[in-house]
Amino acid sequence: MTVTDDAAALAREAPEHNPFMAMLTRFDRAAELLGLDQGIYRILKAPEKELKVAIPVRMDDGSFEVYEGWRVQHNSTMGPCKGGIRYSPHVNIDEVRALAAWMTWKCAIVNVPFGGAKGGVRCDPRTLSIGELERVTRRFTSGIIDIIGPDRDVPAPDMYTNEQVMAWIMDTYSMHKGHTVTSVVTGKPWGLGGSQGRKEATGRGLLTMVREAADVKKLDLADATVVVQGAGNVGGTIAELLSEVGVKIVAISDIDGYLLNEGGLDAKKLVRHLERKGQLAEFKGGEYIDGQGLLEMECDILIPCATENQITSVNADKINCKIIVEGANGPTTARADDILDEKDIFVIPDILANAGGVVVSYFEWVQDRMGYFWERRDVNLRLAKVMRTAFRQVLKRTKTSKVNMRTAAYIEAVDRVANLQKMRGLYP
Ligand code: NAD
Repeated sequence: MTVTDDAAALAREAPEHNPFMAMLTRFDRAAELLGLDQGIYRILKAPEKELKVAIPVRMDDGSFEVYEGWRVQHNSTMGPCKGGIRYSPHVNIDEVRALAAWMTWKCAIVNVPFGGAKGGVRCDPRTLSIGELERVTRRFTSGIIDIIGPDRDVPAPDMYTNEQVMAWIMDTYSMHKGHTVTSVVTGKPWGLGGSQGRKEATGRGLLTMVREAADVKKLDLADATVVVQGAGNVGGTIAELLSEVGVKIVAISDIDGYLLNEGGLDAKKLVRHLERKGQLAEFKGGEYIDGQGLLEMECDILIPCATENQITSVNADKINCKIIVEGANGPTTARADDILDEKDIFVIPDILANAGGVVVSYFEWVQDRMGYFWERRDVNLRLAKVMRTAFRQVLKRTKTSKVNMRTAAYIEAVDRVANLQKMRGLYP
């Protein structure tokens, strides 16, 4: 472990960097402002179910490795649980808990009839062969098989998982059931029960957020500059969609460094390059900078699309933009929220901004159950409508409750789930 790795590991353990604590801080604030009943507060705070599994896997060299995996179901008041599965060397139970709770609030904001869940496997997918990745996925699926299912809990892609991983999950589940069950998972490939537009749905949802936020802040997108952190599914897609409509992307990063072009990057070419090479370095259309510094660049709109805890009490003061649209889950810590507020930066919070993924996941689940698949145009139109409505409802809440967009989003979500919980009542 290097000194930098050591520092990063320590930082991850600091209370400010605990994602579940970050979620609870915002939840508590919303609960207090809503005057939430103490009993309902306690129900909504506690995850309903947490399953930890050991995942023994035969490696290509014949040795065995045992990975840890988790599935957390935070709350199922609104329907079957829903949430992605993340592969990462750092994932831990508190991160999965936080991500599961964020899914509960996210589904409520966009009125999708799902509860919140999340899964994680602690492994480094960048060092696994395709065969090892498949064996990890299939064994993890069999480990959690009793608690997932189309009417129970429906996984989806997240960091370092993709359409291929979803196809393996669907196949493993189907083999256990004895027949094909496409609706057990979303984000599948087209032709295996996948929906048109799902892969780019989170990025497409962000596009609606960028447009709405620019409108509120009277920012002309034709003259705006954008910086994107993360060049994966979410970051790559929003970069491509924004440059398609003529918005200038001046920088984009991956885990190793970032690409800079003050005149605007050709995001379409960049995404094709990433599909071939898997990393930003060597792309000809910009200067590649090995290292950090991207988040503090001056720009109009900053779109973090990588991971948690990127904007913290340490660097929030140095953030130099007018609008932040959170593509990632939990990129900003609760302490950083206050600093960004003081700087009058308009933040579109994760539980609203990146909800496009779960909206089209819901469309995919509906299509799988109907056995009838929609055209891409219909998917995109419906998605834009849902996202616009959600943005405007949250914006309205900022005015009625005199709070920022993050607190308004939490108030809106917690209020909806709390009311439904009261209507369902408590069993027995
Ligand atoms: P991905 O694996 O496709 O891409 C992640 C990108 O972030 C890569 O470019 C990676 O190099 C970069 N990255 C990772 N750690 C980094 C770090 N510490 N610093 C800088 N860059 C880093 O993942 P994704 O699906 O695009 O997800 C990105 C974020 O968006 C996650 O927070 C995820 O939870 C969230 N999200 C994803 C979806 C979805 O549909 N995929 C939906 C909602 C939210």
